[in-house]
Amino acid sequence: MVEHVVVIGAGVYGAAVTASLTRRGARVTVVDAGAPGSGTSGATFSWTNSCGKQPRTYHDLSVASMAAHRKLAAEVPHGDWYHEGGNLEWAADDAGRAKLREKVDGVLDYGYEARWLDRAEAVRLEPDIDPAALPAYEIAYFPREGWIEPTRLIAHLLSNAVARGAELVRNDAVTGLEVTAGTVRAVRLASGRRLGTDAVVNCAGPRADRIAALAGLALPMRNTRGVLVYTSPVAVSVSRVVHAPLVHLRPDGAGRLLLHSEEIDGATYRSAGGTVEVEPSAVEQVVEAGRALYPGIRAATVESVRVGERPIPGDGLPVLGRAVELPNFHFAVSHSGATLSVHAGDLVAAEVLGADHADALAAFRFERLGPAAR
Ligand SMILES: Cc1cc2nc3c(=O)[nH]c(=O)nc-3n(C[C@H](O)[C@H](O)[C@H](O)COP(=O)(O)OP(=O)(O)OC[C@H]3O[C@@H](n4cnc5c(N)ncnc54)[C@H](O)[C@@H]3O)c2cc1C
Repeated sequence: MVEHVVVIGAGVYGAAVTASLTRRGARVTVVDAGAPGSGTSGATFSWTNSCGKQPRTYHDLSVASMAAHRKLAAEVPHGDWYHEGGNLEWAADDAGRAKLREKVDGVLDYGYEARWLDRAEAVRLEPDIDPAALPAYEIAYFPREGWIEPTRLIAHLLSNAVARGAELVRNDAVTGLEVTAGTVRAVRLASGRRLGTDAVVNCAGPRADRIAALAGLALPMRNTRGVLVYTSPVAVSVSRVVHAPLVHLRPDGAGRLLLHSEEIDGATYRSAGGTVEVEPSAVEQVVEAGRALYPGIRAATVESVRVGERPIPGDGLPVLGRAVELPNFHFAVSHSGATLSVHAGDLVAAEVLGADHADALAAFRFERLGPAAR
């Protein structure tokens, strides 16, 4: 019987798994090498979506995850970390428009909400956009999408879990796992502490491969870096996620905007001192693209630039659930974790405690990654 579970990592996944386990009556110790939310979950665009996600099982998991966010936020007083403002997207050229049409047709086929707007309709939604920056037609709108504030979600989930008896260990890395006879018996920490356990959940995000290796399992990862630019507060109305050809943006609280582009992700470099830096010209470019879209943000300055590492399993899909070879070792690792974690974390937690969900996790199991994974 599973009584005590160690959850490794306190990002959105670790927090969601811990909250679900404690709600289901387990005793949980959640361990993070740093502070909760200090990993990828603290440097993410955190757009909640299932926009063009393939295959169908991944799309369905994402849609169920969006519904789980909606439900949780509605249940909790002050659950205002969740913003279902919708997402606008358009393309700059024929190839981009063809791709966007294909995406909209694909999600409509799946029964997902999407519709086409013209310029006047888009400006009604986002009145501070410069109309000249928009195409006359073919602006895709996905009304059920939005974004979350991950650190506030993590804080809610962990404080609830701690109130139910979970222990939160900060600034103490997991350095070893004691495995005997195909079972993880204990987790060792850098401080020298040893945690006896009935089950372990690997929620270490981009470092999940290292935790898997401690258990003798090879988890292939192909993580990528992403760059996010946070502006000073500006008195401009931005109410939703906007994907324009040269900039992606969304509100980030107290009037700040969060800007991203595909190009800026390629503008990182390692300094002589070994830190990851971002080319200042790339930051200026993304801010300029934001200003061209919303002229009212002309006076905005850059408050911070963060570099996050996307935790991407080898084939791009989530890795969720127990390892067949080591049945008390579980994974909760994926890109799109801002979207997926509350729902997927709940499915993983249920499995840890023996619940059977008619294998809702079948498409996401570790073993699909092939012999290299074993
Ligand atoms: C630029 C960028 C944009 C993104 N945009 C989106 C988006 O729009 N929508 C979306 O859904 N997703 C998005 N993502 C992905 C999403 O943010 C991640 O999937 C999610 O944050 C991962 O959460 P996590 O809890 O798995 O990992 P993390 O938040 O990294 O948490 C893992 C934790 O494990 C801890 N840890 C690591 N090793 C150890 C150890 N040995 N011992 C103890 N603790 C350890 C770390 O300290 C960390 O706190 C984006 C990511 C990036 C980088």
